[in-house]
Parts: sequence; structure tokens; C-alpha cells
Amino acid sequence: MTFEDLGLSPALLSAIADAGYEKPTPIQEGAIPVALTGRDVLGIAQTGTGKTASFTLPMIERLSRGRARARMPRSLVLAPTRELAAQVADNVKLYAKNHKLNMALLIGGVSFEPQKKILDQGADILIATPGRLLDHFERGGLLLTGVEILVIDEADRMLDMGFIPDIERILKLLPPRRQTLFFSATMPSEIKHLVDTFLRDPERVEVARPAQTADTITQYIVRVSDNQARTKREALRDAINRDGVKNGIIFCNRKRDVDIVARSLQRHGFSAAPIHGDLDQNQRMKTLAEFKSGELRLLVASDVAARGLDIPAVSHVFNVDIPRNADDYVHRIGRTGRAGQKGEAVTLVSSEDNKALAKVVKLIGQEPAELKLDGKAQPAPAEAAAPASEEPKTASSEEKPKSRRRSRSRNKPEAEAPAADAPKAETVSERAPAPEKTERKERPARNERSSRQDRKDRYDRHERDLSPVGFGDHVPEFLLRPALP
Ligand code: AMP
Repeated sequence: MTFEDLGLSPALLSAIADAGYEKPTPIQEGAIPVALTGRDVLGIAQTGTGKTASFTLPMIERLSRGRARARMPRSLVLAPTRELAAQVADNVKLYAKNHKLNMALLIGGVSFEPQKKILDQGADILIATPGRLLDHFERGGLLLTGVEILVIDEADRMLDMGFIPDIERILKLLPPRRQTLFFSATMPSEIKHLVDTFLRDPERVEVARPAQTADTITQYIVRVSDNQARTKREALRDAINRDGVKNGIIFCNRKRDVDIVARSLQRHGFSAAPIHGDLDQNQRMKTLAEFKSGELRLLVASDVAARGLDIPAVSHVFNVDIPRNADDYVHRIGRTGRAGQKGEAVTLVSSEDNKALAKVVKLIGQEPAELKLDGKAQPAPAEAAAPASEEPKTASSEEKPKSRRRSRSRNKPEAEAPAADAPKAETVSERAPAPEKTERKERPARNERSSRQDRKDRYDRHERDLSPVGFGDHVPEFLLRPALP
């Protein structure tokens, strides 16, 4: 099948050809013709299958006729993380280059005003993370009653991140007569319920899940002698210094460890930078661009920040610890060994990780081989003298593993963590539709203000959950002495 067979217009076909795509992927073959008719689509597909084009192409086609009105976006794409939303925006820019469509990107960590301006001008396509969208809505910055097409991307990730109540709220603000394109890699019962409630007779398009772990990936574990992060950092340096390590992504379970590991690698002369939700948006984008261009060799990441990112093949994936959710192990190591190329995944395992390792082994149906390192990595002087605050806290003060289905009130997703950085709002074209009369009050109603406050309170509570209790960073000497027999 060719893209011409899917019923796309010459303007889109030319943009697709410029992108270098020769033929549609299976999810595109299944979803595009159905979406073009205006029917709802339930797409079961993962990142890497070409799913973004499977919803953006028909969306652009259907929006090519008509015009946006002030504060009333014509389509809405909801993505779980800032990076995913930005990635969808990049795709739209690529495919809509021959169209005159306005696009706004509402993501956390950027100031409201410039985004509000684009919405005021009229956006054909609005791409947003759920929290940021609701904030805008509550401030009276937009009306959702003009949305003709809704896309929900990575719905199961939304569930993991506690976004489902926000999604349900947003769905109730949209007009019932709309098209919904809904994508999820898996269909847990909560997602099925959402689909049954909010989609109308969707066409289900499913593409086979890739083999759990590709044969092109060689998996190793490295046993480290104790639970101290410094030992893991030494093992990590040894693992990176092996032959054949061109570049790599290093995963840590905790945001704080992402920073510690990145700083430690930098001190040892490695080209490394962190990416996680507490870093400002511009910084994250810059780091990602440098990694993609090859300027940066090692990207130290948390699962949420790296989730769904379209990063070209890397030679290695390193896991500083085993993810709490065994599925994430498969996602992590899938960053290497892509498109038939060989890749290696090296996971550092301390006794604390044994339980999580057992879950991974059960899921992937194999036990990674044990790799012995020569142990040549030396702590750098700066590292040896690292301040106590850089060291991991005692086990009792570390973040507790969270359950997979956690509520948003306990776990403010890192993607939505507030950050003060430069505005980010983008348009495909600079067309400025005629301004319209304000159709909505400027000030949010009292209950809207209080729900915004609720979200802030939940975030604050979550931050408190992560704060050390008791002695915090400082552990008195006497507690570190071995117990008497
Ligand atoms: P996605 O699953 O949407 O994240 O897409 C993964 C990657 O596949 C992206 O880099 C896309 O640019 C690329 N891609 C999407 N559709 C095609 C296609 N038909 N042919 C080749 N590459 C594609």
C-alpha cells in the first residue's frame, strides 16, 4: 500500500515525501483511511510504530477546510508529557508545512501569556498536557466547545501518571459531536472504561506489539557489592569505558539520582547531561537536541522524561537501578538495538534490586548474563570529597516505590512539575485570524479557582512526600556505627 492509496491530498503527500517516508506503517494503513471519514479510532500501538503520523495526517487533512475562531481551538491533542507534546508539535510542523494552520502548544513550565495570545488569535490545532490545559481553561483562556477532533495519545501512560480524572474532566468539556482518536499501547480496565464511555463505535486498529525484547539487544547485569550509589557509579563508569560504547542513555528511577549520576559523570570527564521533569523546559529541549545531534554522548534520564521520545538508535542503555515497573525495563532497553542494529543493555544490580530483577526476568522470560567489570574506575578527588547532600539519603529517607496505579494526589507527575522558564508557544503559520469578541469571562469562577488550588495543594503534598523526614540529609555519627553484638 502507498500513501496515495490512503486518500491523502497532494499537499500532504508532498510533505510526506519530503519527510522521506516511502510507504505507510501498519498503524497508518489501518488508522488513516478510517480517521479521514470522521469515525472514532481506537489505536493500540506503541511509540516507534508511526502512530503520531497516523493521527496527525488525517487531522491536518480534515482541518484544511475551515477556519479557527478566537479562543476556540478546532482540534485538541492531549499527551502525557511535555516532551511528547513537543514531539507531536514537531510532527505537525513537518506534515502541515503546505497548509495554513495555526498551532498552539500548551505545556507545563512555561508562562501563560504568549500561549494565551496564540489562542486568542485562533488555533486550528492545540497540543497540550492535561494539567496545563485545565489551568488555561480555568483562567478563561479558552473554550473547548469548538473542538471537532480530539486525540488522546499514550492513554495508558496518562493512567500511570494519575491523569485519568483530568482526562475525564476535559472530555466532559468537549462537544459530544466530535471525532475522537484514542491511542494506547495497552488496554487495562480503566482505559477500557474510558473508551467505552467516551468513544462512539470506534474502529479498533491494533498493531502487533514488538517482541518483548528484541534479539538485537544483548542484555547484561552487573552485580554490585552493596547498596551504595557510589559503588554503582564506579560500576557505571567501568561499563561505559568498555569497548564499543558509542553513546548511551542512562536510566535512574529517581529524579534526584539522575542529577547525581549526571554530575558524577561530568566530574569524571564524560560528556553527560540530565533530563527530568524538574529541569526547565528550554534546558530539556536543548539537552535532547544535543544528544540527537551527537554533541552529547550520554543522556541521564528518568523514565517519565524519556518516555516516548523519538531518539535515534543508541549503542547502549544503562540502568543504574531496575525500574519499579517491569514494563519500563522493556521500554528502556528498547532504546537500543533498533532497526536491526545491535545494541547492549547493562543493568546494575545491588541486593536491593533483586526483587525487581525477578519481576523483569519473569516478564522477559530470560535471565540476562552476568558481566564482570575490571573495576578500574577510580573515584575522582572531587567525587571523594562530594558534599553529603549529593550522596543518597539513608534507605528510610529515600522515595518509596510507588504502586503502578497511583492517584494524582499522591503523585504529581514530573511532567507537570512547575518550572519557571521562557515561554514556548508555536505556530505552523503566522496567519492571524480576525479577533473575536471575548466569549468568556476573564476570571475563573470560584469553583474553578478552588480546583486549581486543589491541584497546587496536591502537588505541594507530593513534594512533601518526597522530602526527607527525621534527620533529612544529616545522619548523626552514632547512627552509622555498627550495632554491638
Ligand atoms: P512514532 O511512533 O510516531 O513516534 O514514529 C516513530 C518514527 O517513525 C518517527 O521518527 C517518524 O518520523 C517515523 N515514521 C513515521 N511514519 C513513517 C513512515 N511511514 N515511514 C518511515 N518512517 C516513519
